[in-house]
Amino acid sequence: MSTLGILPPDEQLVVTTVRDFVDKEVKPVVRELEHTDTYPEALIERMKQLGVFGLAVPEAYGGTPVSTSCYVLFTEELSRGWMSLAGAMGGHTVVAKLLRHYGTEDQRRHYLPRMATGEIRATMALTEPGGGSDLQALRTVARRDADGYVVNGTKTWITNSRRSGLIALLCRTDPDATPAHRGISVLLVEHGPGLTVSRDLPKLGYKGVESCELAFEDHRAPADALLGGVEGRGFAQIMRGLETGRLQVAARALGVGRAALEDALAYARERESFGKPIWQHQSIGNYLADMATSLTAARQLTLHAAREADAGHRVDMEAGMAKLFASETAMQIALNALRIHGGHGYSTEFDVERYFRDAPLMIVGEGTNEIQRNVIVSRLVERGGLDV
Ligand SMILES: Cc1cc2nc3c(=O)[nH]c(=O)nc-3n(C[C@H](O)[C@H](O)[C@H](O)COP(=O)(O)OP(=O)(O)OC[C@H]3O[C@@H](n4cnc5c(N)ncnc54)[C@H](O)[C@@H]3O)c2cc1C
Repeated sequence: MSTLGILPPDEQLVVTTVRDFVDKEVKPVVRELEHTDTYPEALIERMKQLGVFGLAVPEAYGGTPVSTSCYVLFTEELSRGWMSLAGAMGGHTVVAKLLRHYGTEDQRRHYLPRMATGEIRATMALTEPGGGSDLQALRTVARRDADGYVVNGTKTWITNSRRSGLIALLCRTDPDATPAHRGISVLLVEHGPGLTVSRDLPKLGYKGVESCELAFEDHRAPADALLGGVEGRGFAQIMRGLETGRLQVAARALGVGRAALEDALAYARERESFGKPIWQHQSIGNYLADMATSLTAARQLTLHAAREADAGHRVDMEAGMAKLFASETAMQIALNALRIHGGHGYSTEFDVERYFRDAPLMIVGEGTNEIQRNVIVSRLVERGGLDV
């Protein structure tokens, strides 16, 4: 059975629709957009038309929700075309899930229908200049007064900062709380006075999509901007959201790895040296065999975590394993694809150099792989092993 065969027909159609979009509309333009670092306005419009932004929004709010396995496989397709496109909807889907699980009915009705169409796109603002791994040490403060919240602080590396109409902001509503996580909340913030996109961060890859610093200086948010309406729950809410985020990053890694394998395989069949296609040289053949094997293993690990999520289980360990393994795999596959392309692998006229620049983001983003290992071992000890 093909990987797609695990999905019901309607979800197979979602994945094949995204696959066709990638082959017909993304692949022909991606190199130009990448090298000019251009925001993919027209492609995002097409993703809106295709309903991609509504795939994590419940039907009652105008979305067409899909299983987590389908979410993983269509994200892999998008990322196979251009990882930046998958990045443009990653935070959005996590915020949709946060609203679905923790939002008040008013918050859901206010945001989800417009998020389903992509009219409003959402992002998460967790990381600060002082650090992203230790989220309990964050410094952004939302102080409550008679009219709502007054927010002060700085966030950094925030994806889609300007173009997101909704920012799920992790902040302190009680700076004196002990333990610290009891004083952390999520505010649903919109652009307005006191919120500035203060800097665009230059970066190795992940081009086209903006990554920015956000400065909050006495920014006002209404009292009903508090996710779920109760202070002090933000840390737990975000940790749950990151389970989806890490599966999304694992799927992005699968897409980059698959694109690199597909390009390398095609090149190895066409390119000849010493009178034969290079795949017939054992070293090159071994690279390809290892790339296909590790990619298959990474995909199965990711789908395993997706199935567990759909069964309603906590998947912090499983999503962590998928993100860790798939991202390290993508990095290795991108490097081997570059080797297989010889000098062309180093050329900006081929796509492999892009995969090599994009792959490391999945190692760092949504919690570094060192942090994933910490999460995995903590859960392993807590559960008393793997199979209990
Ligand atoms: C292109 C890009 C887009 C991003 N998009 C977003 C976004 O939209 N929203 C958002 O909130 N953030 C975003 N991030 C931020 C990202 O999540 C953080 O960079 C990441 O979580 C790491 O935080 P840091 O960079 O502060 O590293 P640090 O936390 O300073 O870590 C530095 C090093 O120390 C290691 N380390 C730290 N603590 C431990 C520990 N306890 N055990 C072992 N090792 C440890 C880390 O693994 C890392 O190797 C993005 C980052 C990039 C590069």
